[in-house]
Amino acid sequence: MTTVLGCIADDFTGATDLAGLLARSGVKVSLRMGVPDETPSETAPFEVIALKIRTVPVDQAVAQALNALEWLQAAGAQRFFWKYCSTFDSTADGNIGPVAEALMDALGSTQTIYCPAFPENGRAIFMGNLFVGQQPLAESPMKDHPLTPMRDSSLIRLLKPQVTHPVCLADRLTVAKGAEALRDHLSYLSSEGVAHVIVDAVADEDLKTIAEACHDMPLMTGGSALAMPLPALFAADGLLAADAPGMLHPDLGPGAVVLSGSCSAMTNQQVASYLATGAAAYRLDPLELAERGPDAAVAWIAAQDLTKTPLIYATADPASVRAAQERLGVERAGAIVEDALAACALAARDAGARRFVVAGGETSGAVTQALGVDRLDIGAEIAPGVPWCFAVSEGTPIALTLKSGNFGAETFFADALSKLTP
Ligand code: ADP
Repeated sequence: MTTVLGCIADDFTGATDLAGLLARSGVKVSLRMGVPDETPSETAPFEVIALKIRTVPVDQAVAQALNALEWLQAAGAQRFFWKYCSTFDSTADGNIGPVAEALMDALGSTQTIYCPAFPENGRAIFMGNLFVGQQPLAESPMKDHPLTPMRDSSLIRLLKPQVTHPVCLADRLTVAKGAEALRDHLSYLSSEGVAHVIVDAVADEDLKTIAEACHDMPLMTGGSALAMPLPALFAADGLLAADAPGMLHPDLGPGAVVLSGSCSAMTNQQVASYLATGAAAYRLDPLELAERGPDAAVAWIAAQDLTKTPLIYATADPASVRAAQERLGVERAGAIVEDALAACALAARDAGARRFVVAGGETSGAVTQALGVDRLDIGAEIAPGVPWCFAVSEGTPIALTLKSGNFGAETFFADALSKLTP
């Protein structure tokens, strides 16, 4: 199936978020971890390439994005979406602007829009200023982010130093007049040579208007929420065949496992809630792992009845995490736990597990890498932004759900398993 929309995301969880929202349409979405080595085959109508370029040097970000663009073009895509964080996470140099400009140049496009708004999650743009809930971005906790501290709330001021062509605003008053008025305003700005247009949005209705006005641009840029109205618009344009492949429901065996390496408050609650169901569970202790390695955990998982979905977890309260980090160092403690969970995932697969519930962003990266997964087909959504995904692990079809930090309800593990019964 020819790809209709090619998406490039600047980080992994952002890519799953985008893929999940596109998949709400019921149309098949494929997520690739990095630019595939091989030429496109068996592509989905919506293809998302997850890069890790939010804070890498500009030239590397641009090179990787152009490489992704080339692959998506080879897959047949003619329209593209550059996805970044809804808090516009970037440094003074980029990489949002330079990547957008490079993609525009490659596509011969003279204008694009920037709309990171995600009203459902409290991200709104008004008069070019980004708000997180009721706080301007620069007063929100994002001001203290360790890698991309956001100290200005004006998207115009943030974007200007990142690009070489003029930046302007299409404000909420224009958006409120509807898609045609917005399109007229964009053409006027285009005639004035404005290449980069920040567009205000405070509600989902605004995003619908913006998507309607801009969905035939070669390149749109923004947060994941802006992409949500696109499938319906493409279908109305006749770009999605009526027989476009829908979401998959592959037949998988009954074996399942929960692997939890996140220590967020919500994951702690989720682990407690799952333990209370009486499920078999094994707790990973970083200090013990540092001394003896993961063999005991691997042997434990191999001996379990996987039809009962055992849990292996390193999830711990902040004091225990700090204690382990003080003894081992933050990085080493994290890596030891990630390696152990990755080894357990492999052992579980070899013992017959076909459904994997994984908690933790970094943990998800370690587990998917160990399983040799480089492509995920997006399935049913379990919680907002967390879908089941289907993949092939060294020849074996499996399902994975990759939950970062605070996502999901307290009963997430059981919710996930009940959404994908064998
Ligand atoms: P989240 O999505 O909540 O940020 P991540 O998996 O991205 O979760 O990050 C959690 C990190 O904490 C991982 O590197 C993991 O290996 C590490 N970790 C998990 N449990 C412990 C623990 N008990 N002590 C120290 N580090 C831990």
